[in-house]
Amino acid sequence: MFDGLKAFIHHGNRYIPDPTKVKLPENFSGLPVISTNPCKQDCQLCVQACPTKAIRKSPLTLSLDSCIFCLECQEICPEHKIQFSNEYKMGTNIYERLQIKEGYSNSISIEPSIVRSEIIRILGRSLKLRLVSAGSCNGCELELNAAGNVNFDMGRYGIEFVASPRHADGLVITGPIAENSLASVRLTYEAIPEPKIVVLVGACALSGGLFKQSPALRREIINELKPDLLVPGCPPHPLTFINAVLDLLRAKENK
Ligand code: SF4
Ligand code: SF4
Repeated sequence: MFDGLKAFIHHGNRYIPDPTKVKLPENFSGLPVISTNPCKQDCQLCVQACPTKAIRKSPLTLSLDSCIFCLECQEICPEHKIQFSNEYKMGTNIYERLQIKEGYSNSISIEPSIVRSEIIRILGRSLKLRLVSAGSCNGCELELNAAGNVNFDMGRYGIEFVASPRHADGLVITGPIAENSLASVRLTYEAIPEPKIVVLVGACALSGGLFKQSPALRREIINELKPDLLVPGCPPHPLTFINAVLDLLRAKENK
């Protein structure tokens, strides 16, 4: 018994006491910050280096919905204009907030005024989610799985993934929505009772990501679904997902 106690003390806490207050290491690549330093004349290095065409010039803007956090733009820029910070809170409910512009240094946040009141009233203390992998590489699923482990433990807030859409309050979509997964997305959405939320997780779900030019995608359904929550990343860190969902459910406190 004493050996067991010694091992318990030695290991300490194996969970994060408060996932909303974690400071990730400096080398974590989260929210990008674009400085206002002038670019070299006609320089297009970052635009050309970006594999997902996430960067536009004049003014320099980075679309976080397309970014796969490969860091090519950070490394190639001679002026060090684009730097990825260790800020992991990047969930929002407005696409425009994912457009990071020069000089922007605030966190990305939920806009409380457009959060449907029934989401907070009915789902605020218990949220069951059904995940549909719509052509994903499985990276997003691995991190979403981790969000429920003993370390991140989103279950403490009543947030859990469930097997049946009939038992779910919301649909989580990963992947770029390939043609072959369209029926799964639609049927799952229709099977979830009202009020239901839709969460897009990862660059693929948000924009098509690396696959946005593919003729095999059927992304028109995104407009029909009217997503309630957008979680950027490739894949998003479990803390990015947990904080985004909590911010949505706690939007009332910020109204
Ligand atoms: S980090 Fe994002 S914006 Fe930069 S090159 Fe990679 S995908 Fe493009
Ligand atoms: S966003 Fe990245 S990790 Fe997620 S499914 Fe797409 S490629 Fe994979």
